[in-house]
Amino acid sequence: MPISATLLSQMHALGAQVVCTGDDIPVHYHTPYAEPAAPRPAALLRPTSVKMVADILRLCHQHGQAVVPQGGLTGLAAGAVPLGEEVVLSLEKLQGIEEIDPDASTITVLAGTPLEVVQQAAEAAGFTLGLDLGARGSCQIGGNIATNAGGNRAIRFGVMRDQVLGLEVVLADGTLVTSLNKMLKNNAGYDLKHLFIGSEGTLGIITRAVLKLHPRLAPPVTALCTVATDADVLAIWQQARRHLPGLISFEVMWPDFYAFMAKHTPGLTAPLAVTDSFYVLIECAVTDGSQDNDTVQHAMETQLERWMEAERVTDGVLAASTQQANTLWKIREGLPMDDLPHLINFDVSLPIGAIGAFAATCRQQLLARWPAAIALFFGHLGDSNLHIGISLNDPANAETAAVEALVYALVQQYQGTISAEHGIGVHKKPYLSLSRTPEELALMRLLKQTMDPKGILNPGKVL
Ligand SMILES: Cc1cc2nc3c(=O)[nH]c(=O)nc-3n(C[C@H](O)[C@H](O)[C@H](O)COP(=O)(O)OP(=O)(O)OC[C@H]3O[C@@H](n4cnc5c(N)ncnc54)[C@H](O)[C@@H]3O)c2cc1C
Repeated sequence: MPISATLLSQMHALGAQVVCTGDDIPVHYHTPYAEPAAPRPAALLRPTSVKMVADILRLCHQHGQAVVPQGGLTGLAAGAVPLGEEVVLSLEKLQGIEEIDPDASTITVLAGTPLEVVQQAAEAAGFTLGLDLGARGSCQIGGNIATNAGGNRAIRFGVMRDQVLGLEVVLADGTLVTSLNKMLKNNAGYDLKHLFIGSEGTLGIITRAVLKLHPRLAPPVTALCTVATDADVLAIWQQARRHLPGLISFEVMWPDFYAFMAKHTPGLTAPLAVTDSFYVLIECAVTDGSQDNDTVQHAMETQLERWMEAERVTDGVLAASTQQANTLWKIREGLPMDDLPHLINFDVSLPIGAIGAFAATCRQQLLARWPAAIALFFGHLGDSNLHIGISLNDPANAETAAVEALVYALVQQYQGTISAEHGIGVHKKPYLSLSRTPEELALMRLLKQTMDPKGILNPGKVL
């Protein structure tokens, strides 16, 4: 059903330049990251205040108008994409740092603030934010919370859920719930923020957040090394946890992934030769001023030498500058989409000891059925989180459902979960029951029904 004329005129009355419709809606707002354009939404709303968000929701609730919340549109599960005649509610104009409280070590921000802006504000005030991920320049804090983003530093600081102390949200009927707690301990009844963290815009619109800050980190020490087998990768993970001061990232790239990136990353000279080994990116960063950075560098060098003597590591490089460290990260983070037709992304978690066997079986089964397929395995291994990028390497073949069925059946067999950090959105909705029990799903539906009885918040997503 198209948007009602009455609702549209009520929306226009909320403020100039808040609403646009038809061809005036840039295609960006209905084109998911790395995917073809979705249907154009009924309207695009860009509120400039929290009150405006609440007014919009109140009106949409009265008219039964479906709403898709949008952050920075970097999500990889198509959760922010309109499916039909919803209105898009973009939080992009609701941005800004409202307060940094050095005593509480907190930062209070509006939901549309880009992650990188929050990171920079924290650094300037002598702190570090616990979340970092490749899309930092575009993704928003509201989107990070709505997806419970994981990222590159989860082994040190946890996931987004662990950074959030307080939240402000607008419910489906326009009710504003302000719960901007700054305290680490607050057991006064249910901790309601957890309902919204990871709810992918289906239970409420996040408008503000209070985030925890950590003492500022010194510039990191970054190394890339080659490791012969998946058993060796697990062994050095355990030793890195124990022996490396300030371990912050432990990222693993399977041999095919490294070879592909070395060949396809524009302007890149591979820092280590392409071999059939695993490539492990290790980063350490201690609190600024707590320990001499030379000591951290020395610890990393010593550990690399020990691993080489034990023949677990066969080659390694230590970044001598931030620029070199960025090059090492570029290999891990910058998957060149254009060279991977119909790329299908997976973001699974598995018991860490089973990841090697899972990846080998998965590759074997994929290639047995689609011999030309490119299957790239990489991930935040320290968090048990494996990403897989699969392209059947055939512009005429996009058997997405068949590939998904194969991978998710294996994930279930290995007792993993279909989403580690990207969420369910649209893409993983058909498979949710592989990772949740009927009782869990029933409770999720009860929550949704109770909090959004008209089903206007991001319909067709998650459940
Ligand atoms: C290069 C790259 C690297 C990435 N690396 C990682 C990574 O390491 N770890 C990781 O977890 N993810 C990663 N992602 C995925 C993505 O960046 C995250 O999921 C991010 O948290 C999404 O934020 P966003 O603002 O772009 O949200 P969007 O994509 O706009 O939205 C995502 C979901 O949140 C909902 N939403 C957005 N804002 C709000 C709000 N204010 N209130 C309620 N609901 C809202 C949307 O409806 C949608 O369901 C990566 C993506 C890219 C492109």
